[in-house]
Order: sequence, then C-alpha cells, then structure tokens
Amino acid sequence: MSLQTILRQVFGYEAFRGPQQAIVDHVVAGGDALVLMPTGGGKSLCYQIPAIARQQAGHGTTIVVSPLIALMHDQVGALHEAGVEAAFLNSSLSGEEAAAVEKRLLRGELTLLYAAPERVTTPRFLAQLDSLAERSQVALFAIDEAHCVSQWGHDFRPEYRALTVLHERYPAVPRMALTATADALTRADIVERLQLEAARQFVSSFDRPNIRYTIVEKKDATTQLLRFIEREHEGDAGIVYCQSRRKVEDIAQTLCDAGLKALPYHAGLDQAVRQANQDRFLREEGLVMVATIAFGMGIDKPDVRFVAHLDMPKNIEGYYQETGRAGRDGAAADAWMAYGLQDVVNQRRMIDESPAGEEFKQVMREKLDALLALAEATDCRRVRLLAYFGEVYGESPPAAGPSQGGHGPLGGQRGHEVPSVGARYACGNCDNCLNPPAVWDGTDAARKLLSTIYRVQQMSSISFGAGHIMDILRGKDTEKVKQYGHETLSTFGLGAEFSEAQLRGVLRQLIAIGAVGVDAQAFNTLYLTEGSRAVLKGEVTVQLRESVSTPATKRSRRAGVTAPAAVNLGVDDQVRFINLKAWRADVAREHNLPAYVIFHDATLAEIARRGPQTLDDLQGISGIGEKKLQAYGEAVLRVVSLSNP
Ligand code: ADP
Ligand code: ZN
Repeated sequence: MSLQTILRQVFGYEAFRGPQQAIVDHVVAGGDALVLMPTGGGKSLCYQIPAIARQQAGHGTTIVVSPLIALMHDQVGALHEAGVEAAFLNSSLSGEEAAAVEKRLLRGELTLLYAAPERVTTPRFLAQLDSLAERSQVALFAIDEAHCVSQWGHDFRPEYRALTVLHERYPAVPRMALTATADALTRADIVERLQLEAARQFVSSFDRPNIRYTIVEKKDATTQLLRFIEREHEGDAGIVYCQSRRKVEDIAQTLCDAGLKALPYHAGLDQAVRQANQDRFLREEGLVMVATIAFGMGIDKPDVRFVAHLDMPKNIEGYYQETGRAGRDGAAADAWMAYGLQDVVNQRRMIDESPAGEEFKQVMREKLDALLALAEATDCRRVRLLAYFGEVYGESPPAAGPSQGGHGPLGGQRGHEVPSVGARYACGNCDNCLNPPAVWDGTDAARKLLSTIYRVQQMSSISFGAGHIMDILRGKDTEKVKQYGHETLSTFGLGAEFSEAQLRGVLRQLIAIGAVGVDAQAFNTLYLTEGSRAVLKGEVTVQLRESVSTPATKRSRRAGVTAPAAVNLGVDDQVRFINLKAWRADVAREHNLPAYVIFHDATLAEIARRGPQTLDDLQGISGIGEKKLQAYGEAVLRVVSLSNP
C-alpha cells in the first residue's frame, strides 16, 4: 500500500500536513529522524504510518517509547478504532495481561507496541527484543516526548537516559525521536543524549496560528477570568492554571458557584481523584479543569478551546507548553493570562529562595526576565514568542544542531533577550495586534520612583515596599509617612499627577527590566540595582501600555483560522450534529474511550452538514477511514435520517 493510501484508508485523511510527508518518506526508507513539531502538528502519524508501511514490507513491529502511561490506553484504543493492531506494556497491566501482550509481540502480531521507558530497558524486555531483532522483526524505535531525556526540558525523566542502549544494541533498526519542545538547548541535548547526530532533522515552525494570545493586567483576577469565560467560552472545554493547590481549589469552587462545570487537579489530591477528574475532562464535554502545572503533560484532547493563566509561569518554555494545549484540532483557541506586580515579586522570590546553585538561579532569572518582557510588550506577542525560540515570524525555522549548545545553560539561545521587532510582521491574532495598546511614556515617573527609593533609603537607612514608595511620590499623608517624616523628602508629592495604577505599572516594568530589586527576605522591600542608573540618567526609556480596560472587540477571526466545528452550521445541521454527538457519547462510553477517539467534532460537523444518505456519501469525509466506515457507517446514517426534519 502506498503511504497516501494508508493515510486515506486507515486514518481517513486526504492529505499529509506540513512536513509529515517528508518525514514519513524518510523513515519508511529506514532513515533516522528527529522531529520537532509543535503540539497539534500531527506527530503521531509520523511514526504510525511508517509503522504500518514497514510492517507490510515485512520489517516487523514498531516500538513506541512513551512516558505517558495514562494515555497509552487511549492511543492504543484510537489505533484499534482505525483497525491497526497495537498494544501497550506498562505498570497498569497485571502480570498475566503483560504476558499476553509479550506473546503477541513475539508472534509478530503487533504493528505497534507502546511501552514506558523503564520497561523497554529491562533485561527481560531486551531479551525479547533480541529474539525479534535476530529475525529482523523490529521495524522502528519511535521515542516520543524525547525532551524527557534532557534536564533542560520541562519534564526530565532519568529513565530516558538509558534508551541509548537501543542504538548500541540494535544499530540496524531505524530510530526517530519526537518532541514539541522548542527550546534550542533541549533540542541539542536530545541529539547528544540519544546519539542522533546522524539523524535527519525535521523542524517545523512553532507558530500556532489558531491560538490567540492575550495578556491582561491583573485587577480582580477571578472576576476577569469569569468574564473572559462567559464572554468568549461559554460551554467550552478549557484549562485554568494556578500556582498553588489552595488557589486551584478556590477557583474551581468559584467557577462551580458561577454555574460552570469545573474540576480541580493538583498533586495534593488523592491519586484516584486526580485520575477520575482527568478522565472526566477527557471524556465529557465543556469541562473546565482548574489545575497546577501537575496537569497537562500529554493531554491530547483536541478541542481544548482556551488555556488561562491566573498566575504567571516560570518562563516562556512553560508558558508555551501550557498554552499549547489549546486548539490542537487547529480551530480557533485562546491563550489568556492575567499578570500583575505580585506575579513578578512571587516568581523572583521563588528563585531567590530555591536551594539551587547561584549559576542555575541566574539562568532562571534570565528566563523569567524574558517572560516578563513578553508580558510587558506593547507589540506583537507572537513575534516575540517565536523570536525567543530563535524563529523569525514568517520565515522558516532553524535546525537544532548540537553545535548550538555548550556555552552556558542557555546554549544556542544566548542573547535571547527577545530582539526588538517592529510591527512589520504583526500577526493579527494577539491582543496587541488586534487592539494596539495606547502607550504612554513612563520615563519621568520611573525616574521619580527610583529617586524616591534612593532618598528613603538614605534618610531612614531601611527600605520600604511598593505601597509606601508610591504614597510618598503621590504626596499622601499616611500614618507611616508621618511616622518616618517622609513628607520632608524632596520627592514628596512630586508625582501627584500619576494614578496608583500608573505607578504600579511603571514599578512592575522597572522590576521586570531589573532596574528595581525586590528583597523577598525583608517584606518585599524595594532597592536600587545596577540597572537603576541607566533609567535615572535617562538612557533607558520606559514605555507602558495605557491602563484602560479596552472592551474586547468582538471576535474577528484571522484569515485561515477555522472556527470550532459547530460554529457555522445551519439549524437543521445543528440538530443532526447534536444527535451525532449524543450517539458518539454512547459509543465512547461503551468502548471506554474519549469521544474524540471515535470521531472528532469536525468530522461530525461535516457529516451533519452533508446529511449523507448512503455509505458512499460518507466516503471522503475527513476522519472516516475504512475501518470506521465499516464499523459505524450504518449507525451514522441512521442517526442522520432520524434527525432529518
Ligand atoms: P501532536 O502529537 O503533534 O500534538 P497529534 O498527532 O495528536 O499531534 O495530531 C493532532 C491532530 O491532528 C489529531 O487530532 C490528528 O488526528 C490530526 N491530524 C494529524 N495529521 C493529520 C492530517 N494529515 N490530516 C488531518 N488531520 C490530521
Ligand atoms: Zn500579534
């Protein structure tokens, strides 16, 4: 069977996407590959199609190494639905079940075997591989989530390091490593750790054009979040990230009180509760998961319509990874974050108080600074985000050579203080592009703030926090001002024309650019730094977004970004769509699989739109392969005919 035929008959898709074709060609021919593709780019097909093709050519079974035990079940389930022989081996199986899988493996009955890394490298499993390899029956090693091999990645798993044994023991078997991590240092590390120097690299653009980035100033974050969900995402599935377990619980409760379906997820919850909540999120529709970053790794639910951050992540890698869970299906989705002064202070404190070495802390600070710059930006967010990953928006991305690494922990990313970029390449699908913020010049206010911090320190020999400094500058007669005699300072009342919100904004930005330090050990008091001088001398200007709450313009879709599946359906189509979804829910429950494994929303919407009457009419609808046509075609036609007016 040609690769094109496999794509169409097994998966029901008309065409390869982006670099898929080139990757599949290369791997089927026995080449090694490193695949760098953003979440939702379609990595699974890149090894599933070669697995099928190579098995048909007599090369045996493909071994997929994956750390995501919880998801192997659904992935294997999806392959079964498509008529592909697959199984998994992990700790969730009983000894008997595992033995049965091993037997099928040795008999050559499997096209794909998913296994956890710690399983793959056991002597027992290696012995089985030996016996297959002797007969040339190992078709391919696909190492998924390959960034787990690097301690610079966001999910280091020491077990991944042992995977080098595969190459050493079975040099004739082609290998591919796949990851959605865009960070240059991590990529270089993957190449080195997995000995993929000779592998061909396939680097996709990391742009996620269907995700709209918005970063708002935090005022009353909970209310802002509620308004965002109510206005833009009524009834949608979404993830809300918070930093602490406590806050996760509170926000989940608040959302429930507001009539939304929301569940909490954090590492402090009982394992069974966590599992149950994750299952519900995957299997039910329109659930909002309120979670710490413990949630999300490998969640391949395609129709997450928004990811909201109520607290700022640690760095851009984290932000990108978490927001990337939105809109895997390619339809419009939102990444929304509320950000404020306290986030800056908290993140700095966490770094300062961590037990890590000074060098590591310095790297963490630089990474945080890059995220702060993104949050404060008044120009295109996407341009900045991609620039951080070494990509110029609109140009093709650079490859990841090991030569890029090696110089300090940021390796090839050195100097990634996001280059200043004009509006020339503006994306048209982020808040700053859609509503260019009014900008005011905060340089004067910044200098006045800095000199107030300086004078207060001189006069009282102790430092003070942001509130007090702002009070002095605005000329407020507070108890504390009187107590310390700060009304006698020359800057007292000098900034009366600024609102507190404005000064807060200036201060936030000064902290973000390192021109003001925050002493976490001493009640978050402010102090001057090396970076203060340039601002005081007027060498650095401070540009701020005007702090007015511009009402969001009603969603205008960017050209080329499709609306979520059901948006453009007529009334009769809607009825069919709803009934098809109800039918799908029953099937999914019966098969113990998430609904999207049976059919995607987009597939059901297309069926609803066409109103097919015969099996032939169903042919060629994206997402309906031969096996699914056979298994579900008649049932789908019945649902459609019952729904017709
Ligand atoms: P990744 O693992 O890269 O995040 P997936 O492999 O889960 O992405 O694919 C994302 C979605 O895109 C899946 O729902 C998949 O079925 C779909 N998809 C992948 N390749 C194609 C294609 N060539 N045509 C249509 N849909 C595709
Ligand atoms: Zn933009």
